Amino acid sequence: MTNKKIAVIGGGIVGSTAAYYLSRNGHQVTVFDEGVGQATSAAAGIICPWLSKRRNKKWYRLASDGAAFYSQICQDITADQGDISFYNKNGTILTKKTPQAIEKQYALGLERRHTAPEIGDLKILSKKDLETYFPSLPSQENALFVSGGARVDGEAMVRELLTLVEKNGGKIIRENVPLKQSLLDDYDKIIIAAGAWLPQLLEPLGWNVDIRGQKGQLVVLQTDDYNNQHQPVMMPEGEIDILPIGDGIIFVGASHENDKGYDLLPDEKIIQNLIEKGQTLFNILEDASLIKVKVGTRAYTSDFSPFWGYLPGSDKILVASGLGSSGLTTGPIIGYQLALLADNKQTDLPLEDYLPDTYLQR
Ligand SMILES: Cc1cc2nc3c(=O)[nH]c(=O)nc-3n(C[C@H](O)[C@H](O)[C@H](O)COP(=O)(O)OP(=O)(O)OC[C@H]3O[C@@H](n4cnc5c(N)ncnc54)[C@H](O)[C@@H]3O)c2cc1C
Repeated sequence: MTNKKIAVIGGGIVGSTAAYYLSRNGHQVTVFDEGVGQATSAAAGIICPWLSKRRNKKWYRLASDGAAFYSQICQDITADQGDISFYNKNGTILTKKTPQAIEKQYALGLERRHTAPEIGDLKILSKKDLETYFPSLPSQENALFVSGGARVDGEAMVRELLTLVEKNGGKIIRENVPLKQSLLDDYDKIIIAAGAWLPQLLEPLGWNVDIRGQKGQLVVLQTDDYNNQHQPVMMPEGEIDILPIGDGIIFVGASHENDKGYDLLPDEKIIQNLIEKGQTLFNILEDASLIKVKVGTRAYTSDFSPFWGYLPGSDKILVASGLGSSGLTTGPIIGYQLALLADNKQTDLPLEDYLPDTYLQR
């Protein structure tokens, strides 16, 4: 194996995973990460793609393989004496307005379990069953429990991955870096995992990138005397999800603000709306206090599909972006594929389904 000098621009989930696997394989890795607006650190962290009604088969394959990949990455981190407490598989509960809608989700889950055993157990819950998981959900009656659903703390995960990169001899530089000639000269490979900021990095090289930023906010609420360490994630119908974090902390979110793009200011009206919707769903939140607002920028392509691979015409620069609202699910497996590519190894997902070429124009 030849040892390469590799620069990774972006220390979110994609860049940190790629850097981790490359440093683990003996390469000299430097990660540049500005960190401002990072989607990974702001994310809710729901990993439960199997019951999505999105019809895009390539996305489903990626998301389903991405959810399964958590088992591999957690094993690898554990083998390296790392901490995997960022990953909590407590299950997910979906609720719908009618029993028929829940039956449909149940049937979809059973069908998809043939190719995705990670879904685990599926169980339609009675109101009484539901109350054992969530004691005060007044308006929810039709619920499905999915035991394979998980929650990932994105901020803790990238912190752990980058700690391991340093342990493997890599360097982390917490600053913005442009794609200048000296960088291209200094490194054998450059991985650009800059999320929503890929257009800004590639514009000076004459590339027009089909990526737009979308603002996302979620509220962090503190409840009293409420042990929710092992509670499942709650996904009611609609935009709002409820994520018990432990120590009485609950995330409620997230917003999807297309018109606000790269803006990172917490917005009073959106925050109030998230809190009120959360309280309507879950009575315990009525006495909760707001302790933090997380704001991040998601990256979207115009057809909502992520991409990764070599920059067209280059055998040195690799790119990834467009992970949208499911990037904590798909990010680790995409980062791993980038590491395989940079290492001249065979990838295990079909590259042609996710090529950057469609999204990059000169
Ligand atoms: C509020 C919210 C909730 C979400 N909830 C979920 C969820 O429940 N489940 C799920 O699967 N996904 C969720 N997502 C989506 C997921 O977080 C993202 O898709 C994913 O984290 C994107 O990862 P990334 O590595 O591509 O980009 P990012 O995490 O955005 O990382 C890119 C990094 O690159 C850095 N960077 C950019 N340009 C430069 C430069 N020139 N020099 C140095 N550094 C640079 C940035 O500062 C940033 O740190 C959510 C996102 C948000 C915002």
